[in-house]
Amino acid sequence: MSIADNIQRVQETITTACARVGRDPAAVTLIAVSKTHPAALVLEAAAAGVQHFGENRVEEAESKIPQVNVVTTWHMIGHIQSRKAKYVPPLFNVVHSVDRLKLADKLARAVTERGGTLDVLLEINISGEESKGGLPAFGWQTDPAVRAAVWEEVRQICALPGLNVRGLMTMAPIVPDMQAARPVFAGLRELRDRLAESLGPPLPDLSMGMTDDYPVAVEEGATLVRIGRAIFGER
Ligand SMILES: *Cc1c(COP(=O)(O)O)cnc(C)c1O
Repeated sequence: MSIADNIQRVQETITTACARVGRDPAAVTLIAVSKTHPAALVLEAAAAGVQHFGENRVEEAESKIPQVNVVTTWHMIGHIQSRKAKYVPPLFNVVHSVDRLKLADKLARAVTERGGTLDVLLEINISGEESKGGLPAFGWQTDPAVRAAVWEEVRQICALPGLNVRGLMTMAPIVPDMQAARPVFAGLRELRDRLAESLGPPLPDLSMGMTDDYPVAVEEGATLVRIGRAIFGER
């Protein structure tokens, strides 16, 4: 299977998942996660029509992105150390992994110094798994303390200059059957709806779904899916 074949298959799977729930496939953006793969494969995927790429490490992006001399939108999807925040805005168009106020503040400073804005998503830990990153939100529906902490953190991040908070991102636990990830995706959508309602920003984007679970994420409202292995093969 070539990269072009893989992309076509993923796009068909997205279209089929949309049809099951009456969504418009144009509302779902495919992000090809090119981490660990060379710029040549990014160019191959771009030639096959992909315009959005995801990377998870600043160092890797610093060497790879300049080698990709076609117009693409770059998404930072990995954990960012606070001291590396200043290197992120010049490289990336969208940051999915804003998981704490301190990082958001560093990104906001870097953006406003350069003059401009940066689209960001807030990474949320919905499942409560300790191995997962993200702003801890497990239990927000039932625990008033968790809810208050999440609301306060999001409110402060949304108030920072230079950051355009577009929505939420999450990673589901690794499960044997993708249906088991559904409550996590539905939970992210519900949290997005409640935050938008009470804080005011529209928060249109939900970044959720990877190779093993994206059909379910699309059924639950994903607007951005982050697909690595189904496009580029095993890492
Ligand atoms: C690697 C990665 C992906 C892609 O994972 P696949 O299982 O290869 O599709 C998506 N999101 C994040 C945050 C990642 O680190």
